[in-house]
Amino acid sequence: MGFPFTKAAAILDTLTKNGFRAYVVGGAVRDYLLGRRIHDIDIATSARPADVVALFKKTIPVGIEHGTVMVVCGGHEYEVTTFRSEKGYDDFRHPNTVTFETSLEKDVMRRDFTINALAMDRSGHVIDLFGGQEDLKRKVIRTVGPAEERIAEDPLRIMRGIRFTSELGFELGRAEFDAFRDHCRLLKKISVERIDQEMTRLLAGAFARGALQLLIQTGCLHVLPVLEGPIDETELLRVRFSLLQSDEERWAAFLSATGVTGIHHFAKAWKWSRSREKAVFLLQKYDSLRQSAGWDRVSVYFAGPDRAKAVERLQAAFQRETSDILKDRLNEIDRLWRALPIHARGELAVTGHDLKEWSEEKPGPWMSEALAQIEKEVILGSVSNRWEDIQTWFKVWRKQSRRY
Ligand code: ATP
Ligand code: MG
Repeated sequence: MGFPFTKAAAILDTLTKNGFRAYVVGGAVRDYLLGRRIHDIDIATSARPADVVALFKKTIPVGIEHGTVMVVCGGHEYEVTTFRSEKGYDDFRHPNTVTFETSLEKDVMRRDFTINALAMDRSGHVIDLFGGQEDLKRKVIRTVGPAEERIAEDPLRIMRGIRFTSELGFELGRAEFDAFRDHCRLLKKISVERIDQEMTRLLAGAFARGALQLLIQTGCLHVLPVLEGPIDETELLRVRFSLLQSDEERWAAFLSATGVTGIHHFAKAWKWSRSREKAVFLLQKYDSLRQSAGWDRVSVYFAGPDRAKAVERLQAAFQRETSDILKDRLNEIDRLWRALPIHARGELAVTGHDLKEWSEEKPGPWMSEALAQIEKEVILGSVSNRWEDIQTWFKVWRKQSRRY
């Protein structure tokens, strides 16, 4: 077997030619052996950060104190990290001490799971000290060393382990399952940003259902912020997350299924960005609108076609609609959208300026009120989007409503 990471070969060559040892490690080796797409390549080396900086033309010091230098090579970025071991995690975030090491063995021992502790040298030979290849074949997540110890050291590994089951379709080892269950409360020590990051990836995994089941069975789900209360687990396990296409859709589904009301409260506790909070909020709003009234010109106009389609996928994910007709539903939304006379207020043939001239009133809140009404009439087709028609409509409306 040759060396498959051809673009990274030059980096390994430079390091080895200068007397250092260097390997591709972690996720890249795992994903290569699984035939999965490789997204980033991490390199472990005996070279110290200063050596790495000196050897390569373009480097970025992303974490020198932890031994990591980003090497930019052929337009790609590679994390090159000095072999290291870690001791103590008193803050459950950073190891208390990071010690640079001279051997790969010490470096792979600090890694979380056997399937993530694989390394490959420049000749394509896999170095597998903990049976990671066997675990890849058996499709099992096992920690490097005793599960209890490794979890106590860094409880985020619970979320990472379950997230990997979701992405890879693997099982947890027996000892790992027990350790996750027995120590689930340690997750409270982990920053919510890191929990959120893992949870978001967990929901996106091809095997999310199994992973959610593990979160339930180990008791971890109820340790997560805002999820302490009773949850309809059957409902949660019924959701077909694979039909959903964005993190926002998956979170909206997750929150509906777990019965969390009050997106704002959840978003705050989970430190979501404003944009995610808003997107999830709107999806849920249009989801309940769609359930009670279905789509029409007005709701498709205000939701926008992308959000309306996301709502259809939510409907299908909850099996309120069979998924065979999902495609028809999505086409229907496109049809409704295309048939709209305008697609944004800016496309109206009149502006606030016109209204002001017609009514000879001072600008004020009445203008946006009138524009909103005109917008609605145009969308519904009761007034055509022509300047003169809108003017005629406006004059009648003004008289009828005795204003402006
Ligand atoms: P992916 O990038 O798909 O999440 P990955 O395995 O590359 O998978 P990263 O988070 O990028 O995961 O971490 C790179 C490597 O660092 C892992 O393969 C693992 O060996 C090690 N690692 C990451 N996080 C931890 C942790 N919390 N404890 C121990 N080792 C870790
Ligand atoms: Mg990675």
